[in-house]
Amino acid sequence: MARTRLLPLLAALLLQMPVLAQVLAAGPLQPLEAQLAQLEAEGSQDPDAALAKLGELRVAEGLQQRVIYTRARILLDVGRTEAAEALIKQLAAHPEQEGRVQLLRAMQADRRGDDEAAVAGAGKAVGQLEKTCPVGDERAAVERGSCDFRAQWQALRILQQAQRDVGANQPAQALAQRGLALAQAGRDGQLVVVSSSDLALLAQAAEQPEEMQRWLEQMMLAAEGDSMRMYTAMTTQAVVAGRGGNKQAQLQFQLRGLEIAQQAGALRHVARAQSNLADYYMHRGEPARALELARKALPVMQRFKDRDRESVLHHNMAVALLRLRQFDAARREIALADQLRLGGGQRPVVRARQLRELGEALAEAGLAREAIAMYHEERALTVKVNERAQAAALEALRTKYDRTRGQRDLELLQRDRSLKDQELANSRLAQQVGVAVAVLLGLLVVLGGVMVRRVQLANKKLKANEALLRAQSERDPLTELANRRHFLAVMEQQAANQFDGALLMVDIDHFKHVNDRHGHAAGDIVICEVARRLSHAVRQQDLVVRWGGEEFLVFAPGVAQSQLHGLAERILFSVGAEPINTEDGPLNITVSIGFAHFPLPPMRLALHWEQAVNWADMALYTAKSQGRNRAMGIATVDAQDADTLQQIEADFDAACSSQRVSLQQILGPQRGEG
Ligand code: GH3
Ligand code: MG
Ligand code: MG
Repeated sequence: MARTRLLPLLAALLLQMPVLAQVLAAGPLQPLEAQLAQLEAEGSQDPDAALAKLGELRVAEGLQQRVIYTRARILLDVGRTEAAEALIKQLAAHPEQEGRVQLLRAMQADRRGDDEAAVAGAGKAVGQLEKTCPVGDERAAVERGSCDFRAQWQALRILQQAQRDVGANQPAQALAQRGLALAQAGRDGQLVVVSSSDLALLAQAAEQPEEMQRWLEQMMLAAEGDSMRMYTAMTTQAVVAGRGGNKQAQLQFQLRGLEIAQQAGALRHVARAQSNLADYYMHRGEPARALELARKALPVMQRFKDRDRESVLHHNMAVALLRLRQFDAARREIALADQLRLGGGQRPVVRARQLRELGEALAEAGLAREAIAMYHEERALTVKVNERAQAAALEALRTKYDRTRGQRDLELLQRDRSLKDQELANSRLAQQVGVAVAVLLGLLVVLGGVMVRRVQLANKKLKANEALLRAQSERDPLTELANRRHFLAVMEQQAANQFDGALLMVDIDHFKHVNDRHGHAAGDIVICEVARRLSHAVRQQDLVVRWGGEEFLVFAPGVAQSQLHGLAERILFSVGAEPINTEDGPLNITVSIGFAHFPLPPMRLALHWEQAVNWADMALYTAKSQGRNRAMGIATVDAQDADTLQQIEADFDAACSSQRVSLQQILGPQRGEG
């Protein structure tokens, strides 16, 4: 039973042998993607073998479409368009294959020379493929296995070449760089070489020699150790040298490329190298050599249905034949080239150049009519090419403008934002300044307050000092009574010439005797004690002034006539009732007083305070003359006016005698009365 089960297994294993052999031949077990890429590369040299190997590959159900896609690419690459078309339709039934289908359509169009369709298809392909291969995230996407970087690279390259053909160098460079990023992410050396090569040539066209050199170096590095990559690199170096005018180097690189292709046994590449060399010799004025190389390359190009290059070969052969003056053969080549062109597959720029070359060769050969026809055709094509270039340039300009405008908008936005920031900073600053000002103002207010308070205090002190000084200056140092100056100050507050109140002039009797008998010091004690007793005798509102040596003046404001009598009597008794004690023993001291009430009764005639003092003084004089120790008050004055009053003043005694002035006398304490 076990044996019967083993047999089919062995048979199955045997059936798988070619695949196993292939896997083993490919070295270490490769992932499907790498295997397919390798088969595709092989297909470009030997499509049938590659297609056969593809047919032998056993892959999981879900990966069948990947194989179909690779098969379609191989078929397209060798110009088997119908077979490819069938496969594309098959793939189109799978929505997830949309990106690849679009790419295959773009490649088809590219082969046909239908640039517009190629660009449209490639654009759609990139849009689809980018979903799994986002820009900037290529490496991670490749590592995840979600990214068909080769398909995307191919689509980008179609777009890039279309841009390059219309002279849109910058967009072409951008696309080539995206391609390079994908190639590097996928670690595909061949694609890295091609992308670096594209970038080097674009940099050269853009007259960026340093950039160009950098890309060439990168290309050479990536080409190292692989003949097909090195072939591509040599071809690029040849083109660069040729465009740079270094024909010698151009030839050397082309010969080296041919040699590499021959050594590798890559027939298709050998034919391409020969074709390139033919072109070189043709332009170097060696038509015979060019013709020979072109004839060698032609069968291989035909086999691979490389219409583009086949057409170039026929063209080069035609020009060479014209130069060799083999006109009929030349015309046959021209017709063949035209035929191939009708089948599609030639870029307008290339065609325009060919037409120019043909026109020149025809003209040189003296075939003027045909030369003119070529010239017209070339003119028409150039106009078309220029129109496209202009459109592309316009588009580039628009893109640039959009970018600039976007940049400008951004700058405006940033400026706006920085303006707002500034405003914010300003308002913050204003706030801070406001706070600072407020604090400062507060401080100033406090400081001002303190200053004002200090000034007030100082003023108060000053006023107090002033008052003290004034008080001191208006005070008698011996008796501490107000002095004459103080009385003057008080009098200043009285209404002028309208003295109101009572005055009592008090004088110590026979004071000279005190001084003479008991000494000056005892006299001082007496003066002080009399002052003290006076102060006690008067009312609180009355002012006692030391008027002179032993004279005192009492100013009693608002006192009634009857009260004044009592006041005078109180003074007489307070001083004279008790003896004053001195170092020399107690002394019997009496005073005499002259007093009056102003305005003088009964007429109440207005007078100045100095007059009033004089009237009191005159009364005092009368008291002295009547025997001392008494008070003499003016009771009435018979005067109707100021003049009469002055006359009475001038002779007071006479007035008293004539009774024009009536006096009131109060006697002081009599000796022995106690
Ligand atoms: P009368 O009764 O007529 O007033 O006689 P009297 O001696 O009191 O008056 P008189 O004006 O002749 O003398 C006043 C004296 O008072 C003269 C003067 O030396 C003295 N005298 C003035 N001031 C002071 C003082 O401050 N102290 C002392 N001890 N004596 C003074
Ligand atoms: Mg006196
Ligand atoms: Mg006296």
